[in-house]
Amino acid sequence: MSEQTKAVIISVGTELTEGVILNTHFRFLGAELKYLGFLTIRSVQIPDTKSIIFEELNRALGDSNLVLITGGLGPTSDDLTREIVAETAGVKLKFKEKIWETLLCRFTGRKISDTNKKQAYIPEGFQVIENYNGTAPAFYGWIRKTLVIALPGPPKELEPMFHRQIAPLLSKEMHLHILEELKTTVLMIPESVLEEALQKHRKKAVTWGTRVAEDRIIVSFRGGSLSDQEKAFRGLEEEFSQVRIRRGDVKPNYMLFEALKERKMRIALAESCTGGLLGKLITDIPGSSEILWGSLVVYSNSAKESLLSVDPELIEHYGAVSREVVSAMSEGILKRSGADVSLAVTGIAGPDGGSPEKPVGTVWVSARKVSGKELYQKYHFPGSREMIRRRTAISALLITECLVLERDCPYLSGPWE
Ligand code: ATP
Ligand code: MG
Repeated sequence: MSEQTKAVIISVGTELTEGVILNTHFRFLGAELKYLGFLTIRSVQIPDTKSIIFEELNRALGDSNLVLITGGLGPTSDDLTREIVAETAGVKLKFKEKIWETLLCRFTGRKISDTNKKQAYIPEGFQVIENYNGTAPAFYGWIRKTLVIALPGPPKELEPMFHRQIAPLLSKEMHLHILEELKTTVLMIPESVLEEALQKHRKKAVTWGTRVAEDRIIVSFRGGSLSDQEKAFRGLEEEFSQVRIRRGDVKPNYMLFEALKERKMRIALAESCTGGLLGKLITDIPGSSEILWGSLVVYSNSAKESLLSVDPELIEHYGAVSREVVSAMSEGILKRSGADVSLAVTGIAGPDGGSPEKPVGTVWVSARKVSGKELYQKYHFPGSREMIRRRTAISALLITECLVLERDCPYLSGPWE
């Protein structure tokens, strides 16, 4: 498939146009379509109004090869998508026994209303896509030269359906030629720095797609030979170290979780500027109780002193954001918890509280083992309060993983220092 196969996303819902809910589909579908090689030429959100849906669908049929239309598949009178698609295709709605049976199964023990029957109809000649997370099945079919796929509105239904059913369907119906790819996770490297490095290590026919997530960037090398993809990967690895460049799509909290679990170690956290974010990231993982003692949010000086036995004179003399205090924090929590590893963070997340010596974004991290070995690092992170806190948490997870794996930790500070 050429890079230029055109897609249009139409999100239907008066709740969207009235600002009652935020449209998350543009972001999700936009990124997924880009990943599959489509060019999304338009994303529109429109109300549940027949004439407008009709108009947008026709416009999309005129200038794209793929239309994803979301929402309006439910049983109520404002759910119009199936009728409009049928009318546009010039076909009737057809009752599908199989959908009806599936609905009846789902409603076992509950009363199924007549309006639900509406969901068992789809445009004639279209195919059903089962909805494993809701009642409204999706459907797809060709209208002239355009593939039209009608998808459910709720993100909890749409997103898993896309991964499990729609992506393979697109690949089959549109003959996507998804090449072998080498997925790479990039940690704690600004996008612009990464882009430069990618250009620098460019290899012949290898191209790449990047997906920016909250805690990492995923680069997928595609095209060219596998060995050229591997060379491009190695180039990044050499430039940024194995700590920051990982094979596959991996998350930093899971990386630390695995490292601790394998060694049967437990960790205790002392969080100041992250305010519990580290605890959240670890407890996001099912089974984290195996490796987590707990997390103390020691925000005030007095909390640091009374809960972690940090010497008030250290705070007085060096300030709460300092090498001395972060080390005393990781030592204090390690003793108090009896855990095998501890991690402490203290910093100035801003927007206020900075000074010329310690500007906003100054952060100290210390990870410690019972053996007494400590890895510590100072950072100066740019960005908003939220970004500083997130970057602090990710860096702290990486340092701790290095300590647990007894791995060299070069470039700990990285391009942001
Ligand atoms: P249902 O069977 O729930 O009626 P549906 O396919 O008809 O599903 P809608 O009625 O359009 O979908 O939307 C149902 C709900 O899904 C909305 O109330 C909203 O919470 C969520 N939703 C719909 N579209 C979007 C969107 N673009 N972004 C985020 N959430 C959405
Ligand atoms: Mg609905």
